[in-house]
Amino acid sequence: MPALDAPSTDWRHSARCRDEDPDTLFVQGAQQRDVREVCKACPVRTECLAHALDNRIRFGVWGGMTERERRALLKRRPEVISWAALLESARRAAAASPAANPHVPAARARRDTARPATAAEVRAEGDRRHAG
Ligand code: SF4
Repeated sequence: MPALDAPSTDWRHSARCRDEDPDTLFVQGAQQRDVREVCKACPVRTECLAHALDNRIRFGVWGGMTERERRALLKRRPEVISWAALLESARRAAAASPAANPHVPAARARRDTARPATAAEVRAEGDRRHAG
């Protein structure tokens, strides 16, 4: 998986939607649910989301989050200057934590990884909203 601080558009080469018609990513309402299904298995979902958040991209589904969800996240976390840096930092911390060890009990892993706005939290929020 490429690092978030790699050249800004390198991640696009690994995008699951790279061969899709761009118009399919900029849909409205319930159709956004279908787009998010594509994003769920995308290897560069975090990079995509960070790009959209850092560049205040207003329309379309990016990183599995709709424009409305991203707007809410930006409003809730106005202090974040670089989502790319924040998400990369969270990913590195998660990789170095006991949660990355499959032998650590899940409850302990959850306790040990409690921190604000990790990449996992951002994704979970998108998934939660998707389910609702
Ligand atoms: S997360 Fe979704 S929109 Fe972003 S690159 Fe991957 S498939 Fe495309």
